[in-house]
Amino acid sequence: MQLTDNITTIKGIGEKTAAAFAKLGVHTVDDLIHTYPRNYLSYGEPVDIKDTVIGERQAICAVISSYVDTRKVRGLTLTNITAKDHTGNIKITWFNSPFLRNVLHRGDTYVFVGTVKVKNNMRVMDMPEYYKLAQYQDMRQEMQPVYPLTSGLSNKTFQKAIISTREMIYSLEDYLPDEVKYDYSLMDISEAYENIHFPMNEAVLKNAIKRLAFDEFYKFLYDMGKLKAENIQIPNNHRIVQGKNVAEFVNDLSFSLTKGQQQAIEDILADMGSDNVMNRLVQGDVGSGKTVVAEAALFACIKEGYQGALMVPTEVLAKQHYEEISEMFDKYGIKTACLVGSTPMKEKRHIYEGLKSGDIDIIIGTHALIEDKVEYNNLGLVVTDEQHRFGVNQRKKLTAKGDAPHTLVMSATPIPRTLAIIMYADLDISVISELPRGRKPIKNCVVGTNYRNTAYKFIASQVEEGSQVYVICPMVEESETMDLTNVTEYTDTMKANLPSSVRVAMLHGKMKADEKNSIMDDYIAGNIDVLVSTTVIEVGINNPNSTVMMVENAERFGLAQLHQLRGRVGRGKKQSYCIFINGKESKESMDRLRVLENSNDGFFIASEDLKLRGPGDFFGIRQSGEMLFMLADIYNHADMLKIAQEILAKYGDNLGPTKSKIITSLNENAVL
Ligand code: ADP
Ligand code: MG
Repeated sequence: MQLTDNITTIKGIGEKTAAAFAKLGVHTVDDLIHTYPRNYLSYGEPVDIKDTVIGERQAICAVISSYVDTRKVRGLTLTNITAKDHTGNIKITWFNSPFLRNVLHRGDTYVFVGTVKVKNNMRVMDMPEYYKLAQYQDMRQEMQPVYPLTSGLSNKTFQKAIISTREMIYSLEDYLPDEVKYDYSLMDISEAYENIHFPMNEAVLKNAIKRLAFDEFYKFLYDMGKLKAENIQIPNNHRIVQGKNVAEFVNDLSFSLTKGQQQAIEDILADMGSDNVMNRLVQGDVGSGKTVVAEAALFACIKEGYQGALMVPTEVLAKQHYEEISEMFDKYGIKTACLVGSTPMKEKRHIYEGLKSGDIDIIIGTHALIEDKVEYNNLGLVVTDEQHRFGVNQRKKLTAKGDAPHTLVMSATPIPRTLAIIMYADLDISVISELPRGRKPIKNCVVGTNYRNTAYKFIASQVEEGSQVYVICPMVEESETMDLTNVTEYTDTMKANLPSSVRVAMLHGKMKADEKNSIMDDYIAGNIDVLVSTTVIEVGINNPNSTVMMVENAERFGLAQLHQLRGRVGRGKKQSYCIFINGKESKESMDRLRVLENSNDGFFIASEDLKLRGPGDFFGIRQSGEMLFMLADIYNHADMLKIAQEILAKYGDNLGPTKSKIITSLNENAVL
């Protein structure tokens, strides 16, 4: 078996299963072994019923204390029992499992494993797994991988497929020599793949994850080094010298720039007027005002007679930038257009023509900008906003559309300078460290679910005062269809709990782009008061009239992500509020969320989060939304990033990952 083989070469994988795998992007053996479990189930010591944590998957050991009651309700067969231990009772329900009547009996003792909830003041469990005590004790030591699944693909099938690749995993050749692994305590590559799929225990799993994170960073830095070598001192054939015009543009703004913004613009002008092409990153926390910096750069570029492009990760954001920028530049006679996936074909063609002929000065859009059909007349500057959502190759593809245009990337990922220098080795960096004046700090509170009604009342009163509200709805386990019902149901709940005059709308990932855009338009125009959504609004959206952000199930997010989310409010003059609802009754998650109450420093928040996480959190919640890596995270694995840099500096090309097939596929998978 070879890494490049199609997965149908694996015994037991036929056309049908292969089609299901394809939906997950798994086509080859290489893809398969790089699809890591998203979690591991381990079977812990059963806990007393009264000590079970609500909302958590728990094991209890209990006696069935009622008859096994099976009945039909609205087409569903429900099987109900009550079980007890010496500390309390729990009600257990299974759906459509009538056979259980013949399996479970009053007086039998079982270990039930499932998520504990409260209904009518009583602890309940739906659809738990059940085991005889002896059987359960046998399972205690194992860690079961849980893979990302899709319809037609079960976890069992997935596991079986991986097991068939084991021989090949054992025979993988490592590109790191033994002494390097020894010096840096890095696990062998075969061992790492073996253990990410079949962990012997938690300690070994952690080392496996570290090693694989290392490989991702190493490959990334290796590519980055190549890119840097290519980029260094490319002669500037779009010399832009527009200091005076830009000063006028800045003067015309309705506000005065912060120091950081000013400095960033100066850096950019110096770069674009120098002998070499610009490659610059502007880093600034959410709300620090990066857009206007990009606008100034684009303005200079157009004034010099070149075209400019601005690429953003979502259509909603593209439209918003487009509206702001086209309005702003109209009076200067600058022609702006917006190109996204959902742009009608006819309009697209029109835009392609305008770009080719040079009629359009500035194009704003999503990855639609890097499609083959797009050609430019004279592209002088390429800006990427929210750069962490793009892979290196996507950025490269856009710059390749011009003849060595200047590059400006903008990022809100809060990382300290030392890490930024490693991660963005190919870029010069400008940092905007302060927020615009006159912003009132956001007032934060972390509360339990029993605070919901108070929160609804507060939201109603803010709407009454003319403000708008974002609500991030509760999350269910990672199922997309569930997600939809979830947003819909929660939106209904919101409506029921707010005065009928409050206009509530929802936004979710399954919506068509047009639909999303029109809802966002309505929200920004003030025709919607409360916007219930999944995390789609996370990136970039700017509506200064939004004063409340309420996040349900805040405990499921990384703190840095919550920090980004709350950056959607506090953008105007009014006082803003953030309500984080903690859906878990544990002190641990409360303590973690409290960090947000006490700090506004994105990097501090991310590092505290790491410290406060308990054992058993193998992958760590992604902190940065950094999509370049499948498993590595700059916060969780900052040490591996540093080691990767050190090893690369020491061994350089002698040890190129190009020599190892195993990780060549990695960065290509960067998602958008
Ligand atoms: P981000 O850095 O998160 O992209 P934006 O560029 O969207 O932030 O800016 C957030 C808001 O702050 C916008 O409404 C913008 O007009 C405003 N803004 C930007 N710079 C200033 C400033 N110097 N003074 C006042 N408001 C500003
Ligand atoms: Mg922005």
